[in-house]
Amino acid sequence: MKAAVLTVPRNIGDHPLEITEVAEPRPSAGQALLKVRACGVCRTDLHIVEGELKPVRERVIPGHQIVGEVVAALTAELPSGARVGVCWLGGADESCPYCRRGLENLCDSPTFTGYTVDGGYAEYTLARTDFVFPLPENLDDLQAAPLLCAGIIGYRSLRVAGVEKGERVGLFGFGASAHLTLPVLRSWNCEVFVSTRGASHRQLAASMGAAWVGAENDRPPAPLDRAITFAPSGEVVLAALASLRKGGVVAINAIHLDRIPQFDYDRLLWGERQIRSVANMTRSDAREFLQIASEIGLQPKVTVFPLERANEALQAVKNDSIDGAAVIAPSAQ
Ligand SMILES: [Zn+2]
Ligand SMILES: [Zn+2]
Repeated sequence: MKAAVLTVPRNIGDHPLEITEVAEPRPSAGQALLKVRACGVCRTDLHIVEGELKPVRERVIPGHQIVGEVVAALTAELPSGARVGVCWLGGADESCPYCRRGLENLCDSPTFTGYTVDGGYAEYTLARTDFVFPLPENLDDLQAAPLLCAGIIGYRSLRVAGVEKGERVGLFGFGASAHLTLPVLRSWNCEVFVSTRGASHRQLAASMGAAWVGAENDRPPAPLDRAITFAPSGEVVLAALASLRKGGVVAINAIHLDRIPQFDYDRLLWGERQIRSVANMTRSDAREFLQIASEIGLQPKVTVFPLERANEALQAVKNDSIDGAAVIAPSAQ
Protein backbone atom coordinates (compact mmCIF):
# COMPACT_ATOMS: atom_id res chain seq x y z
CA MET A 1 0.00 0.00 0.00
CA LYS A 2 0.97 3.63 -0.35
CA ALA A 3 1.90 5.52 2.85
CA ALA A 4 3.66 8.67 4.08
CA VAL A 5 6.49 7.45 6.30
CA LEU A 6 8.63 9.41 8.76
CA THR A 7 12.11 8.14 9.58
CA VAL A 8 14.13 11.24 10.52
CA PRO A 9 12.20 14.24 11.91
CA ARG A 10 13.25 17.56 10.41
CA ASN A 11 11.86 20.89 9.29
CA ILE A 12 8.70 20.40 7.24
CA GLY A 13 10.18 22.55 4.47
CA ASP A 14 12.68 19.70 3.88
CA HIS A 15 9.79 17.25 3.27
CA PRO A 16 10.57 14.70 6.00
CA LEU A 17 7.69 12.41 4.97
CA GLU A 18 8.55 9.91 2.28
CA ILE A 19 5.62 8.78 0.14
CA THR A 20 6.38 5.14 -0.54
CA GLU A 21 5.05 1.58 -0.84
CA VAL A 22 4.94 -0.42 2.40
CA ALA A 23 3.41 -3.76 3.38
CA GLU A 24 -0.32 -3.65 4.13
CA PRO A 25 -0.80 -4.11 7.90
CA ARG A 26 -2.38 -7.31 9.24
CA PRO A 27 -4.78 -7.14 12.17
CA SER A 28 -4.16 -9.19 15.27
CA ALA A 29 -6.72 -10.06 17.95
CA GLY A 30 -8.73 -7.03 19.06
CA GLN A 31 -7.81 -4.98 15.99
CA ALA A 32 -9.68 -3.94 12.87
CA LEU A 33 -8.14 -3.43 9.45
CA LEU A 34 -9.47 -0.16 8.02
CA LYS A 35 -9.34 1.28 4.53
CA VAL A 36 -8.56 4.97 5.06
CA ARG A 37 -11.15 7.23 3.43
CA ALA A 38 -9.79 10.47 4.90
CA CYS A 39 -7.31 11.56 7.55
CA GLY A 40 -7.25 15.00 9.12
CA VAL A 41 -3.97 16.87 9.58
CA CYS A 42 -3.28 18.09 13.11
CA ARG A 43 -0.64 20.38 14.56
CA THR A 44 0.51 17.43 16.67
CA ASP A 45 1.47 15.65 13.43
CA LEU A 46 3.67 18.62 12.67
CA HIS A 47 5.31 18.36 16.11
CA ILE A 48 5.98 14.66 15.46
CA VAL A 49 7.33 15.21 11.95
CA GLU A 50 9.56 18.11 13.02
CA GLY A 51 10.74 16.32 16.19
CA GLU A 52 9.29 18.53 18.96
CA LEU A 53 7.70 15.29 20.15
CA LYS A 54 10.57 12.84 20.51
CA PRO A 55 10.51 9.88 18.11
CA VAL A 56 9.42 6.67 19.87
CA ARG A 57 9.86 4.34 16.87
CA GLU A 58 12.36 3.99 14.07
CA ARG A 59 9.72 4.80 11.50
CA VAL A 60 6.13 5.82 11.81
CA ILE A 61 3.17 6.68 9.62
CA PRO A 62 1.56 9.80 11.20
CA GLY A 63 -2.12 10.73 11.20
CA HIS A 64 -4.70 10.39 13.98
CA GLN A 65 -7.99 11.76 12.64
CA ILE A 66 -8.91 8.75 10.58
CA VAL A 67 -12.18 8.05 8.82
CA GLY A 68 -11.93 4.39 7.92
CA GLU A 69 -14.03 1.64 6.46
CA VAL A 70 -13.86 -1.74 8.16
CA VAL A 71 -12.38 -4.14 5.62
CA ALA A 72 -12.93 -7.49 7.25
CA ALA A 73 -15.98 -8.39 9.32
CA LEU A 74 -14.96 -8.69 12.93
CA THR A 75 -17.86 -8.29 15.32
CA ALA A 76 -21.56 -7.59 15.06
CA GLU A 77 -20.91 -3.93 15.98
CA LEU A 78 -18.15 -3.60 13.40
CA PRO A 79 -19.35 -5.38 10.27
CA SER A 80 -17.41 -5.16 7.06
CA GLY A 81 -18.10 -1.78 5.41
CA ALA A 82 -18.90 0.06 8.67
CA ARG A 83 -17.58 3.61 8.74
CA VAL A 84 -15.67 4.49 11.91
CA GLY A 85 -13.42 7.19 13.32
CA VAL A 86 -10.03 6.68 14.96
CA CYS A 87 -8.55 9.31 17.26
CA TRP A 88 -5.26 10.28 18.91
CA LEU A 89 -5.97 8.02 21.91
CA GLY A 90 -5.72 4.68 20.16
CA GLY A 91 -5.65 2.62 23.35
CA ALA A 92 -5.15 2.67 27.11
CA ASP A 93 -4.01 -0.08 29.48
CA GLU A 94 -7.22 0.20 31.55
CA SER A 95 -5.25 -0.83 34.65
CA CYS A 96 -3.07 2.13 35.67
CA PRO A 97 -4.20 4.47 38.50
CA TYR A 98 -5.46 7.05 35.97
CA CYS A 99 -7.51 4.59 33.93
CA ARG A 100 -9.00 3.25 37.15
CA ARG A 101 -10.15 6.79 38.01
CA GLY A 102 -11.77 7.22 34.60
CA LEU A 103 -8.95 9.46 33.39
CA GLU A 104 -7.81 7.38 30.44
CA ASN A 105 -6.55 10.57 28.76
CA LEU A 106 -3.75 10.53 31.37
CA CYS A 107 -3.00 6.77 31.06
CA ASP A 108 0.56 5.77 32.01
CA SER A 109 0.85 3.39 29.04
CA PRO A 110 -1.22 4.94 26.29
CA THR A 111 -1.32 4.12 22.61
CA PHE A 112 -1.19 7.23 20.46
CA THR A 113 -2.32 6.79 16.88
CA GLY A 114 0.26 7.97 14.36
CA TYR A 115 2.94 8.23 17.05
CA THR A 116 3.38 5.06 19.15
CA VAL A 117 1.63 3.04 16.40
CA ASP A 118 1.16 3.73 12.69
CA GLY A 119 -1.64 6.10 11.75
CA GLY A 120 -3.73 7.21 8.82
CA TYR A 121 -1.45 8.87 6.27
CA ALA A 122 -1.79 5.63 4.32
CA GLU A 123 -4.23 3.58 2.29
CA TYR A 124 -4.85 1.15 5.18
CA THR A 125 -4.39 1.20 8.93
CA LEU A 126 -5.12 -0.81 12.07
CA ALA A 127 -7.13 0.25 15.10
CA ARG A 128 -8.23 -1.30 18.37
CA THR A 129 -11.87 -2.27 17.97
CA ASP A 130 -12.74 -0.80 21.38
CA PHE A 131 -11.22 2.58 20.43
CA VAL A 132 -13.16 3.31 17.23
CA PHE A 133 -16.35 5.36 16.97
CA PRO A 134 -19.30 5.11 14.60
CA LEU A 135 -19.61 8.39 12.69
CA PRO A 136 -22.77 10.49 12.25
CA GLU A 137 -24.30 9.79 8.88
CA ASN A 138 -24.95 13.46 8.16
CA LEU A 139 -21.20 14.13 7.92
CA ASP A 140 -19.26 13.02 4.87
CA ASP A 141 -15.75 11.51 5.11
CA LEU A 142 -13.89 14.77 4.58
CA GLN A 143 -16.02 16.66 7.08
CA ALA A 144 -15.87 13.95 9.70
CA ALA A 145 -12.06 13.74 9.70
CA PRO A 146 -11.23 17.05 11.46
CA LEU A 147 -13.81 16.30 14.14
CA LEU A 148 -11.72 13.41 15.37
CA CYS A 149 -8.98 15.44 17.05
CA ALA A 150 -9.43 19.13 16.31
CA GLY A 151 -13.10 18.76 17.21
CA ILE A 152 -12.92 16.33 20.13
CA ILE A 153 -9.96 18.00 21.83
CA GLY A 154 -11.50 21.41 21.19
CA TYR A 155 -14.60 20.13 22.96
CA ARG A 156 -12.50 18.73 25.82
CA SER A 157 -10.88 22.18 26.13
CA LEU A 158 -14.30 23.73 26.67
CA ARG A 159 -14.93 21.22 29.45
CA VAL A 160 -11.51 21.70 31.03
CA ALA A 161 -12.12 25.47 30.97
CA GLY A 162 -15.45 24.80 32.73
CA VAL A 163 -17.58 26.64 30.15
CA GLU A 164 -21.19 27.08 31.19
CA LYS A 165 -24.14 28.11 29.06
CA GLY A 166 -24.32 31.82 28.29
CA GLU A 167 -20.77 32.64 29.37
CA ARG A 168 -18.23 34.89 27.68
CA VAL A 169 -15.56 32.72 26.10
CA GLY A 170 -12.36 33.80 24.35
CA LEU A 171 -10.72 31.77 21.60
CA PHE A 172 -7.08 32.74 21.08
CA GLY A 173 -6.10 31.50 17.64
CA PHE A 174 -8.62 30.39 15.04
CA GLY A 175 -7.33 27.30 13.23
CA ALA A 176 -8.85 23.86 12.75
CA SER A 177 -9.74 23.24 16.39
CA ALA A 178 -11.03 26.71 17.31
CA HIS A 179 -13.30 26.94 14.27
CA LEU A 180 -15.01 23.72 15.43
CA THR A 181 -15.57 24.92 19.00
CA LEU A 182 -17.26 28.16 17.94
CA PRO A 183 -20.53 26.54 16.73
CA VAL A 184 -20.65 24.40 19.89
CA LEU A 185 -20.32 27.55 22.02
CA ARG A 186 -22.98 29.31 19.96
CA SER A 187 -25.33 26.38 20.51
CA TRP A 188 -24.79 26.95 24.26
CA ASN A 189 -25.65 30.67 23.83
CA CYS A 190 -22.12 31.72 24.74
CA GLU A 191 -20.72 35.03 23.60
CA VAL A 192 -17.53 34.23 21.69
CA PHE A 193 -14.52 36.56 21.44
CA VAL A 194 -11.87 35.59 18.89
CA SER A 195 -8.36 36.98 18.86
CA THR A 196 -6.16 35.75 16.01
CA ARG A 197 -3.52 36.89 13.57
CA GLY A 198 -4.50 36.53 9.93
CA ALA A 199 -7.28 38.58 8.41
CA SER A 200 -8.95 35.59 6.73
CA HIS A 201 -9.22 33.76 10.07
CA ARG A 202 -10.85 36.87 11.56
CA GLN A 203 -13.29 37.05 8.65
CA LEU A 204 -14.19 33.38 9.08
CA ALA A 205 -14.77 33.88 12.83
CA ALA A 206 -17.01 36.88 12.19
CA SER A 207 -19.00 35.00 9.57
CA MET A 208 -19.53 32.15 12.05
CA GLY A 209 -21.10 34.43 14.64
CA ALA A 210 -18.27 35.61 16.90
CA ALA A 211 -19.43 38.57 19.04
CA TRP A 212 -16.02 40.22 18.61
CA VAL A 213 -12.91 39.55 16.53
CA GLY A 214 -9.53 41.15 17.00
CA ALA A 215 -5.91 40.83 15.97
CA GLU A 216 -3.25 39.08 18.04
CA ASN A 217 -2.52 42.06 20.26
CA ASP A 218 -6.06 43.38 20.66
CA ARG A 219 -7.84 42.69 23.95
CA PRO A 220 -11.45 41.52 24.07
CA PRO A 221 -13.67 44.46 25.13
CA ALA A 222 -15.15 42.63 28.16
CA PRO A 223 -13.62 40.39 30.85
CA LEU A 224 -13.84 36.73 29.87
CA ASP A 225 -15.22 33.89 31.98
CA ARG A 226 -13.13 31.34 30.08
CA ALA A 227 -10.41 31.42 27.47
CA ILE A 228 -8.92 28.70 25.30
CA THR A 229 -5.57 29.12 23.59
CA PHE A 230 -4.78 27.18 20.42
CA ALA A 231 -1.38 28.55 19.38
CA PRO A 232 1.83 26.78 20.49
CA SER A 233 2.90 30.05 22.07
CA GLY A 234 3.30 31.03 25.73
CA GLU A 235 2.81 34.71 24.86
CA VAL A 236 -0.72 33.86 23.80
CA VAL A 237 -1.39 32.13 27.14
CA LEU A 238 -0.48 35.37 28.91
CA ALA A 239 -2.68 37.41 26.58
CA ALA A 240 -5.56 35.07 27.44
CA LEU A 241 -4.81 35.28 31.16
CA ALA A 242 -4.81 39.07 31.00
CA SER A 243 -8.32 38.98 29.52
CA LEU A 244 -9.94 36.94 32.32
CA ARG A 245 -12.25 37.98 35.13
CA LYS A 246 -11.44 36.85 38.68
CA GLY A 247 -11.99 33.11 39.00
CA GLY A 248 -11.71 32.64 35.23
CA VAL A 249 -9.87 29.78 33.56
CA VAL A 250 -7.45 29.56 30.65
CA ALA A 251 -7.29 26.12 29.02
CA ILE A 252 -4.27 25.51 26.81
CA ASN A 253 -5.14 23.37 23.79
CA ALA A 254 -1.57 22.56 22.70
CA ILE A 255 0.61 19.51 23.20
CA HIS A 256 3.74 21.66 22.91
CA LEU A 257 4.43 25.31 23.82
CA ASP A 258 7.54 27.33 23.05
CA ARG A 259 7.79 28.76 26.58
CA ILE A 260 5.66 30.81 28.95
CA PRO A 261 7.40 34.13 29.60
CA GLN A 262 7.83 35.31 33.18
CA PHE A 263 4.67 37.07 34.33
CA ASP A 264 3.30 39.18 37.16
CA TYR A 265 1.46 36.88 39.58
CA ASP A 266 -0.22 39.75 41.46
CA ARG A 267 -1.76 41.20 38.33
CA LEU A 268 -2.44 38.13 36.18
CA LEU A 269 -3.05 35.04 38.33
CA TRP A 270 -4.15 36.37 41.73
CA GLY A 271 -7.92 36.32 42.17
CA GLU A 272 -8.17 32.56 41.69
CA ARG A 273 -7.56 32.68 37.99
CA GLN A 274 -6.36 29.33 36.67
CA ILE A 275 -4.19 28.00 33.86
CA ARG A 276 -4.89 24.41 32.84
CA SER A 277 -3.46 22.18 30.14
CA VAL A 278 -5.64 19.91 28.04
CA ALA A 279 -4.12 16.47 27.61
CA ASN A 280 -5.39 14.01 25.02
CA MET A 281 -9.02 12.86 25.20
CA THR A 282 -11.24 10.12 26.54
CA ARG A 283 -13.64 7.89 24.67
CA SER A 284 -16.55 9.65 26.35
CA ASP A 285 -15.27 13.02 25.04
CA ALA A 286 -15.36 11.48 21.56
CA ARG A 287 -18.86 10.05 21.91
CA GLU A 288 -20.31 13.22 23.47
CA PHE A 289 -18.74 15.51 20.90
CA LEU A 290 -19.74 13.40 17.89
CA GLN A 291 -23.29 13.41 19.20
CA ILE A 292 -23.29 17.23 19.53
CA ALA A 293 -21.66 17.60 16.09
CA SER A 294 -24.44 15.52 14.58
CA GLU A 295 -27.20 17.41 16.41
CA ILE A 296 -25.98 20.88 15.47
CA GLY A 297 -24.98 19.79 11.95
CA LEU A 298 -21.38 20.93 12.38
CA GLN A 299 -19.85 21.75 8.99
CA PRO A 300 -16.07 21.95 9.19
CA LYS A 301 -14.31 23.96 6.55
CA VAL A 302 -11.79 21.64 4.88
CA THR A 303 -9.00 21.78 2.30
CA VAL A 304 -8.20 18.42 0.71
CA PHE A 305 -4.72 17.15 -0.12
CA PRO A 306 -3.85 13.85 -1.85
CA LEU A 307 -1.54 11.53 0.12
CA GLU A 308 1.35 12.44 -2.20
CA ARG A 309 1.15 15.99 -0.85
CA ALA A 310 1.20 15.16 2.88
CA ASN A 311 4.29 17.34 3.40
CA GLU A 312 2.52 20.31 1.80
CA ALA A 313 -0.54 19.73 3.97
CA LEU A 314 1.62 19.95 7.10
CA GLN A 315 3.38 23.01 5.73
CA ALA A 316 -0.03 24.67 5.31
CA VAL A 317 -0.88 23.92 8.96
CA LYS A 318 2.47 25.32 10.08
CA ASN A 319 1.98 28.52 8.07
CA ASP A 320 -1.69 28.87 9.07
CA SER A 321 -2.23 29.38 5.37
CA ILE A 322 -5.61 27.70 5.05
CA ASP A 323 -8.92 28.42 6.78
CA GLY A 324 -10.34 25.51 8.74
CA ALA A 325 -8.75 22.08 8.55
CA ALA A 326 -6.45 20.22 6.16
CA VAL A 327 -7.52 16.68 5.28
CA ILE A 328 -5.59 14.00 3.42
CA ALA A 329 -7.65 11.76 1.16
CA PRO A 330 -5.69 8.77 -0.17
CA SER A 331 -8.09 8.50 -3.10
CA ALA A 332 -7.85 12.20 -4.09
CA GLN A 333 -5.77 13.14 -7.13
ZN1 LIG B 1 -4.44 15.97 16.98
ZN1 LIG C 1 -3.94 3.55 31.99
